[in-house]
Amino acid sequence: MDNLWAAWRSDFILSDKEDICIFCEEGRRLKKQQRLILYEGETSFVIINLYPYNPGHLMVVPYRHLHDVEKLTDEENREMNDLIIESIRILKRRFKPHGFNIGMNLGATGGAGIEYHLHWHVVPRYTGDINFLAAIGKTKLQSIGLDIIYEELKPEYDQYAGRTKRAKSR
Ligand SMILES: [Zn+2]
Repeated sequence: MDNLWAAWRSDFILSDKEDICIFCEEGRRLKKQQRLILYEGETSFVIINLYPYNPGHLMVVPYRHLHDVEKLTDEENREMNDLIIESIRILKRRFKPHGFNIGMNLGATGGAGIEYHLHWHVVPRYTGDINFLAAIGKTKLQSIGLDIIYEELKPEYDQYAGRTKRAKSR
């Protein structure tokens, strides 16, 4: 696990601009242009990690800018939980990983790259992936991946959005 937590710590250290929160409105708009946002729900959304630990590394994030997990509302917790489970389902279908790590880093000492706006990590794991990463390096992984990952996953989330809407209007 040590390696994994170290990798999570690095996400968004190179945050685009220091003065905007990449998970809040303006940041989200930029991420949308970069084709990183897969799903926007009522209280929270799903975004592809720009600095993935593995292909398919996603984050589930509340719209509200907060860092205290105990301040999340029931609705936020419920929707984020649904989105984590749905993301696992979609990743299993599309990428067939061998396992998952689901987790949250709280506070800089806890390893959060963006400590002021909490977020769940959904990291698919593939047998031997640490060796794989060490061999090819992170930068290479990024450059081969994000567009393909977006193309692969976006239709699945669009379908999910359709199902969720239908369920609500019933
Ligand atoms: Zn924020």
